[in-house]
Amino acid sequence: MPIYEFRCAHCDYLFEKMQSHSAEYPPCPVCGSVVDRIMSAAVPRFKGKGFHCTDYTRHGVKKHISR
Ligand SMILES: [Zn+2]
Repeated sequence: MPIYEFRCAHCDYLFEKMQSHSAEYPPCPVCGSVVDRIMSAAVPRFKGKGFHCTDYTRHGVKKHISR
């Protein structure tokens, strides 16, 4: 089953849930309101950006120490 990412329309809480394509959207675990499903294409894009950012920061720190 694919993992979908949901965002609460009421409190903006973000969470992931593994479910079938035809399953109903789960309620927000924080406030119980209706959630919107985020396009799955946005997930790897976000993680890739975060990884690049972390690697860049690590390089910057290393350079700073060597000085
Ligand atoms: Zn909520």
